[in-house]
Amino acid sequence: MSGATKCIRCGRSIDVDPALSVDLFEGMHWLCFHFEFEHDADPDVACNDIAGCPWWTISYLKDKLRELGVDPEAVIGEAISRKVRDGSTPSG
Ligand SMILES: [Zn+2]
Ligand SMILES: [Zn+2]
Repeated sequence: MSGATKCIRCGRSIDVDPALSVDLFEGMHWLCFHFEFEHDADPDVACNDIAGCPWWTISYLKDKLRELGVDPEAVIGEAISRKVRDGSTPSG
């Protein structure tokens, strides 16, 4: 194989740890692997794979923010405003 590793599910290049994707995730992005084999629910809602499901993680974080008195939608709104303003991303 030459060039960038491509995900066999979505066809896009695998930029984050391609070796791990080839070894562990059958040549897919970890998220593609999750949706292909592990996510046994509507793709737009959390499944029961509490360790691996991004929706589960997001919903837990939202619940925690509410518990702390912070509105998750306000946090996202702030992030969007910041992104629009200076083009920054959480990962830099
Ligand atoms: Zn993929
Ligand atoms: Zn899931």
